[in-house]
Amino acid sequence: MVERVVDGRGRDMNYTIVDTMMRIDLPQPLSPGQRTAFSINWSFNIIEEAIISGRGGYDHFPDNDTYIYFLAQWFPRLAAYTDYVGWQHQQFLGRGEFTLEFGDYEVEITVPADHIVSAIGELQNASAVLTVEQRRRLDEARSADKPMYIVTPEEALDNEQEGTSDTKTWIFKATNVRDFAWASSRKFIWDAMIHRQDDVVQPEVLAMSFFPNEAEPMWSQYSTHAVVHTMEVYSRFSFPYPYPTAQSVNAWERGGMEYPMITFNGRRPEPFQPDEEDPDPEGKPDRTYSRSSKHGLVGVIIHEIGHIYFPMTVNSDERQWTWMDEGINSFLQYIAELEWEEDFHNHRDHYSILEHVAEYMTSENQVPIMTQSDSILQFGPNGYTKPASSLVVLRETVLGRELFDFAFREYAQRWKFKRPTPADLFRTLEDASGVDLDWFWRGWFYSTDHVDVAINSIREYKVSTANPEVEFELNHQERADEVPETLGQIRNREEGRKTRLERFPELADAYNENDPYTVTNADRNKYTQLLDDLEDWERAALLRAAEDDDFVYFVDFENIGGLVTPLPLLITGTDGSEEFMMIPAEIWRLNHLAVTKMLIRDKPIASIEVDPRRETADADFSNNHYPRRIDRSRLELYKKDDDTRDMMADMLATLREAKGGEDDSARAVPLKPAGND
Ligand SMILES: [Zn+2]
Repeated sequence: MVERVVDGRGRDMNYTIVDTMMRIDLPQPLSPGQRTAFSINWSFNIIEEAIISGRGGYDHFPDNDTYIYFLAQWFPRLAAYTDYVGWQHQQFLGRGEFTLEFGDYEVEITVPADHIVSAIGELQNASAVLTVEQRRRLDEARSADKPMYIVTPEEALDNEQEGTSDTKTWIFKATNVRDFAWASSRKFIWDAMIHRQDDVVQPEVLAMSFFPNEAEPMWSQYSTHAVVHTMEVYSRFSFPYPYPTAQSVNAWERGGMEYPMITFNGRRPEPFQPDEEDPDPEGKPDRTYSRSSKHGLVGVIIHEIGHIYFPMTVNSDERQWTWMDEGINSFLQYIAELEWEEDFHNHRDHYSILEHVAEYMTSENQVPIMTQSDSILQFGPNGYTKPASSLVVLRETVLGRELFDFAFREYAQRWKFKRPTPADLFRTLEDASGVDLDWFWRGWFYSTDHVDVAINSIREYKVSTANPEVEFELNHQERADEVPETLGQIRNREEGRKTRLERFPELADAYNENDPYTVTNADRNKYTQLLDDLEDWERAALLRAAEDDDFVYFVDFENIGGLVTPLPLLITGTDGSEEFMMIPAEIWRLNHLAVTKMLIRDKPIASIEVDPRRETADADFSNNHYPRRIDRSRLELYKKDDDTRDMMADMLATLREAKGGEDDSARAVPLKPAGND
C-alpha cells in the first residue's frame, strides 16, 4: 500500500497507480546523466504463502506454532528504462517475472531478538546481532572448505522453544543488485563455507544455508555444497561469481525462487512416521527422503543459485522472455547436475532432457519459444526444457564443445550487468563461434516443429565397367536375383508337362543355344569403340572405377518433424564393422523435407542408423534404422508404481525389523533391496 511520495525536499509528488505499475510525475523531465531523489511511504502485508501462494510470505509449522518469514517483491522497485523499448511497464500478471534496474541497497531489518536473518548483501553489524561464539564460527567458516555451523541444529531447537519481546536490527549492504529479498526466523540453523575463485574483484565468496530442523538431515548435507558446486560450474561457463555471498534458504516446501545472492528453496524430508507397534523407538531415527527428493533438492538449489548469473547479472527481460533466463539457466543446471553425480536424474535412469523435450515438441497446443512470457502455453516445457535442450543440441552436436563454450562465455561476458535481447544472444553465438546458425534459431525458437528424421531407403550400386564381357553376366545374375521364375513355368514342370521343343528337338536354333546375355562380336566392337572415343582422363577414370569395384549408396532421408537437424549416422558393414559419421545440417539447405546422401564404400553396408547416441532430440526412433527393426517391449498387465518410493524409509524399516528379531541371521538382511529403484 503506497501512502505518500515526496521529493528530496519533502514536498508531495503526484503519482498514479496503474494496476501493478506506478507513474511518478517529476516537476521537469530528467536528462541523461542527471539525478533525482524521492521517497515512498508504503506498507506490505505478509501472506501465508502455502495458502495464498506467491513468491514470498511466511511458512507456518503447526506442530510447534513456529514460522519462517521470507520477503520478496515487498517494496516498490524501479521499472527498467531501455534504449530498445523505453519504459518496460507491461503489467505483472504473475508469470512474466521482473524487468529490473541495478542499484545499491542499505537495508535495516528489525526483527525479534531471537531471529536469525538472511538477506541480500553483507551483514554490516555482526557485533550487534550475533553472539561472540557465532562471530567466532563465522570467521572460521570464512576459511572452511566444508560447511560449518554458525547456528547448530541444537541451538536452533533451543531458539524456537521460547519467544521474546526484545528486538534486534540487522543491517545489510548490497551493491549493484537488481533486487532485495530477505528471510527471518527463530528456527534457522545456519551453516557456511568459503568458495575461492580466480578473480581479483571477488576472490572469495561466502556460501551459506539457512534451514529449520524439519529440513534435516538433507539440508546440512547438501545445501551449501550445492551452492558452491553451482558457482564452480557456472563460472566456468560465464564469469566469476560477482557478489560476496551466495545463500540458500529453506523457506517453504515447494519449488524455488531466486534473487541476487539469496535463493528460497523447497524440499524437506518426510516427517518422522511413528510405527504403530513401536511409536517411540529408542534413539529416534533420522527423517528419511526419497531419491527424487534428494535430486530435487540439489537440482532446485543449483537452479536458483544459477539464476544469480542469469538473469540477476546477465540482466535479460524476464517480463518479456522467460526462456532467456529460465532456458539458459536450465541448460547450465543440466550440466551442473551431471557433474554432481553420474546418472543424476529426477525421474528414470538415463531419462535425458532430450527425451523429455521430444515428448513436449510432439504435443498439442504449443507456441514458439519466442512467445511473451504470460502468453506461453505449457510454461515449463516451453520456457525451460525446450530452450535448454536446444542449447544441449547446439553444444554437443551442432557446434561441438570447443566452439560453443567459447561463444557462450563470450555472450555471458559481453552482457553481464547489461540488458541482452534474444538477437544479442543469437548474434553473439554466431559471431563468436564463426558459424551461421540462422537455421537453428528459426527452427527451435520461432517454430513449433520437432525433430524426426526417417531413413526411407538405401539404394546400392556398383560402377558399370561398360565392358559387355563383365556387365552382361552381372545383368543376367541381377535379373535372376530380382525376378523369380514364372510360377506357371514352374508348375508346368512339376506336372511333367513337356514343351514342344523338348518333344521336337529339331526346332532348336542359335537362340536356344545362347541366352539374351551372350556377348557377340558386335558388342565387343562397340565397347572398343567407346574406349577409343573417350578422352584420356575419362578412359583412366572409367578403368580405375572398374578396378576399385566400390559400392555406391544413395541414402534417402525424410524430415518428418520439420525441424532441420544435423544427421549423426552409424554405418554398420556386412562384416560387422561400425563407422560413425556426422552430416552437418547444411545438407537440408536446398530442400528441408527430403535429401539424398551419396556414400562410397569399399565394402558392403548392412544397415544405417540415424542419431544412434540420441543427441538430436529425435522424437520417433522407429524410423531411424534402415532396414527397419522390430520394436521390442513388454506389455504391462498391471498399473506401475510411480517413482516417489522412499527407499531410505524402506531400508530403515528393514533394519528395525532386523534389530527386533531374535535370530542373529536377521541382521544379515541386505541394506539394498534387490531390483532397481
Ligand atoms: Zn528458474
